[in-house]
Amino acid sequence: MRFPAEPFRIKVVEKIRRTTRDEREQLLERAGLNVFMIPSDAIYVDLLTDSGTGAMSDQQWAGLMIGDESYAGSKSFFKFEAAVRDVTGFPYVTPTHQGRVAENLLFSTICAAGKTIIANTHFDTTRANVEMNNAEALDLPVKEAYDPQLGKLWKGNMDLEKLEANLKANRDNIPLVVMTVTNNSAGGQPVSMENIRGASRLCKQFGVPFFIDCARFAENCWFIHEFEAGYKGKTIIEIARELFSHADGCWMSAKKDALVNIGGFIAMNDIELARRLPQKLILIEGFPTYGGLAGRDLEAVAIGLYEGMEPEYLQYRTAQVRYLGDMLWDAGIAIVRPVGGHAVFIDAKAFCDHISPEQFPGVALTVALYREAGIRGVEIGSLMFGHLDPATGKHVAPHLELVRLAIPRRVYTTAHMTYVAESITEMYKDRHKIKPLRLTYEAPVLRHFTARLEEII
Ligand SMILES: *Cc1c(COP(=O)(O)O)cnc(C)c1O
Repeated sequence: MRFPAEPFRIKVVEKIRRTTRDEREQLLERAGLNVFMIPSDAIYVDLLTDSGTGAMSDQQWAGLMIGDESYAGSKSFFKFEAAVRDVTGFPYVTPTHQGRVAENLLFSTICAAGKTIIANTHFDTTRANVEMNNAEALDLPVKEAYDPQLGKLWKGNMDLEKLEANLKANRDNIPLVVMTVTNNSAGGQPVSMENIRGASRLCKQFGVPFFIDCARFAENCWFIHEFEAGYKGKTIIEIARELFSHADGCWMSAKKDALVNIGGFIAMNDIELARRLPQKLILIEGFPTYGGLAGRDLEAVAIGLYEGMEPEYLQYRTAQVRYLGDMLWDAGIAIVRPVGGHAVFIDAKAFCDHISPEQFPGVALTVALYREAGIRGVEIGSLMFGHLDPATGKHVAPHLELVRLAIPRRVYTTAHMTYVAESITEMYKDRHKIKPLRLTYEAPVLRHFTARLEEII
């Protein structure tokens, strides 16, 4: 059996609507061919993101009822703090309402002009928070990360030789090194414990703090459990505790592996640094025992952190993502390999090999996905990252043109994945009918959210 059956049964259902092709055609036209502008009730399978879109369990919903909404010293905070300490081992825990606020607190405290933050790959909000504080965000992934078809494990790793060279040359200007697990921007690829250990050792040697951006730590620990020598006999929480033991701190978007719709935290060993964060926290989030969340949200995170580490869940979770990837690959559709923990990435340059990067092959594919099948994916390519060269006026394309199908946690069944794979396989036969696009409107920053486009007939 390629796919383990869902390790849960369904207690509450949410109706999803199948629209007609005509209806979708009209909605696309109104949306300027931008799937961010399509109302979600007209989407059949929504694979826009895995962030905050997961289904909570009965236990988490029950937790909401016992949330303590006291402004200070809430019971729910202490439960939350105990759970984070138990899993990560870090004593100083600050809740935030999303991961990016943890990044804001940290980087506004430690960054300045001339400083460099090093990561395996900065997630986009991480990079933005570093750059907002005038520092440089330097990515040092292993070179395999740039080869999308290479089906090798641990493509999320950091290049330790380059890390060492940078630490040697510039240690005084490196306030932090961060390992993102799994490496989201590099396709949700896992990082090996060996690599984490190596990066940690180098950081210690040079006296630089080492943090984990741990949004998908449980999925990463599952990959370590399955594929890294010496970890088969360990539980996920044991692997997680070892992973965190190599670091000085971490921050988390709990909207991923803590299985909640909103939440996050930052946690660390260093009391001096921990004491500096709440000054800004109070300004932008609230009192340090709730950090922009309701007491009930803290309960849900405390429960979800453990549910996210259950082996039956992680086996099903990673198998479901891989199942979708395998079905597409078996149909001859180029995807980024190996399939990572939370999403399947279609190579839009290969799928739409008749459309050049400046005509947005990835967006054209997202339009076709919605028009033909009511599926929403997201382009990660020329619309998101491309720009015009100010000197030549020519389009500068990013390295890859991808469409990401991110799988929400515990939301869709295997039958939905089969539907997605079969729809895309069907579209692949007629792929040369997918039309190139041009922009009719773009905002000066983060244009992909609000851009409007039209088809070039
Ligand atoms: C989602 C994410 C963030 C940002 O978290 P938000 O909760 O969306 O603010 C940071 N890092 C990684 C790796 C993420 O996946």
